Amino acid sequence: MEAGRFCHRRKKGHAYVSTDLMVMLERLSAAYGPQGWWPLPTLAGIDGRNRVGYRAAPSMPVPSDAINASQARFEIAVGAVLAQNTAWTGATKAILALHHAGFLSPGVLAGIDETLLGNTIHAAGTFKIKARYLKALATAWPAFEFEQPTRTQLLTIQGIGYETADCILLYCFGQPVFIGDAYARRILLRTGFFSSQQSYESTRRAAALLLPLDATYLAEAHALIDEHGKRCCRAKPLCKACPLTRYCLDARC
Ligand code: SF4
Repeated sequence: MEAGRFCHRRKKGHAYVSTDLMVMLERLSAAYGPQGWWPLPTLAGIDGRNRVGYRAAPSMPVPSDAINASQARFEIAVGAVLAQNTAWTGATKAILALHHAGFLSPGVLAGIDETLLGNTIHAAGTFKIKARYLKALATAWPAFEFEQPTRTQLLTIQGIGYETADCILLYCFGQPVFIGDAYARRILLRTGFFSSQQSYESTRRAAALLLPLDATYLAEAHALIDEHGKRCCRAKPLCKACPLTRYCLDARC
């Protein structure tokens, strides 16, 4: 199959195989409820967020009523770097450690000793390299306070790859992009949207053609897909508990 093209296979014996990604996302939403990403641990319990920093309903990633939208954007970008290759619980601990130490601002992070920064974000794993990445992000960040970054600009910053750049564009700046991360690629392959493994870029482009160009929608879609990847569609899938069994070519139940 050509990269980026969806195939619409039909599973023998199934009355219906959805080829509609929006329908599947609706089912995930019905099963898991609103996700309210991106979580902001420093605003946990305030600004309409629950005790771990998620909003109660899908909304613009940085709502206009955020206590400090500029600070929220930077926290999201820092979280996107800290969450690379690790669970969100570890990233949360690192964000709160930065917050409590008074380091969670571009000016402070850019000038801080790298070893001290690494020790502070220890909970996020690979802390030495993430400290370097955070300093690069903090150094570049002030320019984005006045003008939204382009994807190309973000990709020039050390430690920022496609997925991190797109998370920043979507959740910090409300740009409508689909996050073609490992969970999305796995789920779209298993449910038959793809007939072979796809790259991040081809997944991003192909899925975006099927979904509304709306940042709030795509922010929630990414959250639902990741929730599904963690709960059910794991490397070893838990198909019996899956809300997509009816639509899935790989259902093992
Ligand atoms: S039925 Fe199984 S393989 Fe298919 S989406 Fe659900 S968990 Fe994944």
